[in-house]
Formats: sequence, structure tokens, C-alpha cells
Amino acid sequence: MTRVFKFGGASIQDAAAIRHLGELLAGFPDRPLVVVVSAMGKTTNALEALIAAAREGDEADYRRRLEALRQAHLTVMTELFGEGGGPAARVAALFDELDARHRQYRDASYPLHYDQTIGYGELLSTTLVAAWLDATGVATTWCDARELVVTDACHQAANVDWAATARRVADLPLEDGRLLLTQGFIGATPTGAMSSLGREGSDFSAAILAHCLGAEEVVIWKDVPGLFNADPRRFDNAVPLAHLSYAEAVELAWHGAKVIHPKTLGPLQQKAIPLTVRSFLEPGAPSSTIDAETRHDAAHPAFILRDDQVLLEVTPRDFAFMDEARLHDILGRLVDVGLHANLIDSEAMRLRLCVDPKPEKLDPLADSLAADYRLDRHEGLTLLTVRHPTPALLEALAEGREVLAERGNAGTAQRLFRGDQCPETWHIPD
Ligand code: ASP
Ligand code: MG
Repeated sequence: MTRVFKFGGASIQDAAAIRHLGELLAGFPDRPLVVVVSAMGKTTNALEALIAAAREGDEADYRRRLEALRQAHLTVMTELFGEGGGPAARVAALFDELDARHRQYRDASYPLHYDQTIGYGELLSTTLVAAWLDATGVATTWCDARELVVTDACHQAANVDWAATARRVADLPLEDGRLLLTQGFIGATPTGAMSSLGREGSDFSAAILAHCLGAEEVVIWKDVPGLFNADPRRFDNAVPLAHLSYAEAVELAWHGAKVIHPKTLGPLQQKAIPLTVRSFLEPGAPSSTIDAETRHDAAHPAFILRDDQVLLEVTPRDFAFMDEARLHDILGRLVDVGLHANLIDSEAMRLRLCVDPKPEKLDPLADSLAADYRLDRHEGLTLLTVRHPTPALLEALAEGREVLAERGNAGTAQRLFRGDQCPETWHIPD
């Protein structure tokens, strides 16, 4: 039975990390094993900055950024393989291609330019990692995700063509005993144009392949030991969660827990493929498993913070109601600018929307709303979402804080606070 592993950027951020990855994978001799890898460290952010530099036409800035990226990859290659060793020709060719594509696409639409260049982080990382594994005795085949994951041309958030992808995946050489290594985050249209699945989309890539392979399990290797009921960097008493259902994991991801890319769960749930989250730093540490079992979901309340939120309070000017037609109108404008509401709270004559601070989308939305409605805008807010809340818990969490908006039901409660009334590190009340 096939297994799919996914490793994110932190697990391959430098030569030491790639060595560690090799040692870890040497401990998993069972095949078939498909390994999905992201770009090294923060490469995707650097590639986004490179796109911006190319579009601004600042040649010196563009060059400087491209050379910095080249240097970062060459440094890792030299540290791994020694001077002049490793897949040097392939890495050089990828950088030439990347440079040529920026010239070709810098005047094209932003999403197209983005998708023709952003995936080079993954093409480079997998080239280095595959060569390293192969050189250290883990026989590895580099597979091109652009020949596996077939998508439409909705660039930056491409939709998967499941039937076409399944046909391509069926041709993978699963039985030859080699580890199959491929890129997360990217795919291609039927005509071969690169596409991307959205930031942090490598988890989703692992789920796509697992779904099409009918895999036995997916393991996402992270720098934390599994999932917690709150971000341990923000809550000093977060508890590890050994078990979650697909539905609970979707809820947490939807509300902003940076557990797993929210699109990841659906394809796994459909084929009842369990997902385990493990630490690549401490492979033996307790892990978390997500599957169909719902029994443990409410064992601990869970907490999700979103900082720097913006609250939009929309009121009809003419003392009219916030009826379905108006909701349709206002939410439609959100869709048009591509903004997601993290909280929606509707009353007879007012709609409250809490959104992320993305000025390029928010400002046009605010202008458009202000033309037809009374609009109040509050910034610098913190949205706290609680899964499986109790009244006592919510009361304790709100103590000493003004609540600017709230909504809730038995499963989920949300409270919007002023950011300056919130602590840097939270404590879950007993
Ligand atoms: N490298 C991509 C990103 O940083 C995809 C991923 O890491 O999942 O968004
Ligand atoms: Mg990444």
C-alpha cells in the first residue's frame, strides 16, 4: 500500500535540514512511498518579491533578488555535494528558465506571470533533495508535478481536474522500489502551462496524490509535534491533540488555525485516508491523526486567533433593512474583490464583517460600500474563535476586554476584541 509524505519549507531550509531529511527517510524503507516537498525555507516569499521587482521594471533590484536566490541554492548545493558537485547543470538551467520566463511574462496579467514563475522554488528544492537522497543511498526518482496534477487555468488558485490527474497518477512507476519525489503547490493545465494551488498548497498536493493513488495514509511532517488546541506560540498552556475528525480539522483550518491547508481534508475524507501530523525534529514524539472518528473532537475546546483584523459595519442609509437582497449585494462585493469574511454578523439594520488587513482588496471594497451605505471601519482588532466553548470559558476570555462583535452557536463562538486590549501570550482559563 502506498504512503504519501509531505515536507514543508522548514524541513529543507538548509543543507543540515536536507541531511536530516535524508536520515529520516532512510528509516522508511517500505515502498511505494511518494514524497511531496515545498520550496526551501522562505523561497516562495522571495519569488513573490522577485515577481514584483520584475513587474516594476527595476532591473537592478530584480537582478539582485534573482542572484540572491541563486546564491542561496548554490550554497546549499555546495554544502551538500562539495565544490562543483551535485545537480549543478540542472540548477543552472532552472535559473536560466526562471529568468527567461520573467522576461516573457512580466507584462502579462499578474496571476499568469505569478504561476509561470512561482513554482521554481519547488522545482529547485526537489532537484536538490532528489539528488541528495539518491547520492546517499535512498534510490529516488524525481517526478514532475506538472505532469501529474492537471488543473484549469484559474491561476494562483487553480482547480484540480480529478479525472485527468488520476489518469496521470496511474502511470507513476510505483512498483520499481524507488522513492518518488515531487513538488507540492504546482500543477499544469492540460496544455502544459504551469499553475499553482494557492499559498501553502503543498499539503493539498499531498492529498491530491494520495486520493488518486488510493493511498494508505498521508503524513505531514512539521516542525511541531502534531496539532494543538491552540497555537503554542500564542497560548502558554496549549494541549496536544492526538486525534481529530476530518470535519473538526476543517473547522479549525477554516477559522484560521495554521494546521493544514483547508483544501487538504476533502480529498482524504472521500477515500477515508488518515492524515498524521508528525515532527521531523522529533519523529518519535506523539503525533496527531485526523480520520473519520469524531469521538475525541470535543475533548478540549480549541482556540484560534486572527490579529490585525478590520471590522466593517455596514448600515443602509435609508433606514432600510439588511434583508436578503442587501446581504446578497454586500457579500457579492466581497466576492468581487476576493475577500473572505472571518466573521459575519447580521442584524435588522446592520451587517458586521471582519476581514483580513489586505489593503489592495479592502480599500476598493470600502470605497464601493461607502458609495451606497454608511460604513464604519475599525482597525487593529483581534478575532478569537473558540471551538466547543462553554459560557464560563467565554466569560473568562472576555474579562476586561471590550467585545466589538460576536457570534456563536454550540459548536463555535467568535469574539472580536480591540488588539491593544489583548495580551501577546494568552492563557486558556481553567
Ligand atoms: N512553497 C509554497 C508556499 O510557501 C507552498 C507550500 O509551502 O505549501 O506557499
Ligand atoms: Mg513553503
